[in-house]
Amino acid sequence: MKIIAITNQKGGVGKTTTCVNLAASLAEHGKRVLLVDLDPQGNASTGSGIDKTHLKGSIYQVLIDSKTLQDVIIHAEAAKFDVAPSNRDLAGAEVELVNEMARETRLKNAILKLGDAYDFVLLDCPPSLNLVTVNALTAAHSVMIPMQCEYYALEGLSDLVNTIKKVRAHLNPVLEIEGLLRTMFDNRNMLAQQVSAQLVNHFGKKVYQTIIPRNVRLAEAPSYGMPVLLYDRASKGAQAYLELAQEIIQKN
Ligand code: ADP
Ligand code: MG
Repeated sequence: MKIIAITNQKGGVGKTTTCVNLAASLAEHGKRVLLVDLDPQGNASTGSGIDKTHLKGSIYQVLIDSKTLQDVIIHAEAAKFDVAPSNRDLAGAEVELVNEMARETRLKNAILKLGDAYDFVLLDCPPSLNLVTVNALTAAHSVMIPMQCEYYALEGLSDLVNTIKKVRAHLNPVLEIEGLLRTMFDNRNMLAQQVSAQLVNHFGKKVYQTIIPRNVRLAEAPSYGMPVLLYDRASKGAQAYLELAQEIIQKN
């Protein structure tokens, strides 16, 4: 079982889009996948076709009330993967966790109880380096960092890399950077090309070969509660995430 945290403290860089569509693409390649939604906005849950008003429970209860993941996991029927959903309750978890025992390892312990039920567990992190994100980094084997190739993209990266170093030193010695993923890429944009080249210069093989293009189908699919693979399989976005899944399977 490989646990990957999809993290970037910057919002709107494509974390949730990557989580949902990578989950669907890995499932399409025959892998058993669990998506854990760790954002109180619950966009990964709705984007996977989960109705947040009819949950058995949510990830909040796993982190705070010691419910098991099995208690809350829902099968995303059409998309062929499982989801541990989230909702607004999780917004309070940050404050409540501070006073809990083993506050950084709650998610890790919950995932360990699943045994080897899954090939891949993808963690969709909130847009901050808070205690919920630290739980994700503590539970994960590796971190995938989606990023837009913009001028400020590299600045935020150093904060994240520092957090990863701290978690590695104190909580999770095996944590490594799985890869940097260029998202919403527009090939006609000169700046994007330059930042992309800088990224490859600096991080070398850690940058995925697959590039996710800006593609309107990827933005439309969530409003139908579907990964893009179900919404428009022929789209550039769907093909890019299938390719990314292939690249990740080859690496692992
Ligand atoms: P995050 O989870 O990092 O906040 P999201 O995945 O929610 O980011 O993406 C932010 C917005 O950009 C969403 O509206 C999403 O539909 C859109 N989006 C994400 N990736 C793409 C893409 N490759 N092409 C077009 N729109 C995208
Ligand atoms: Mg998100």
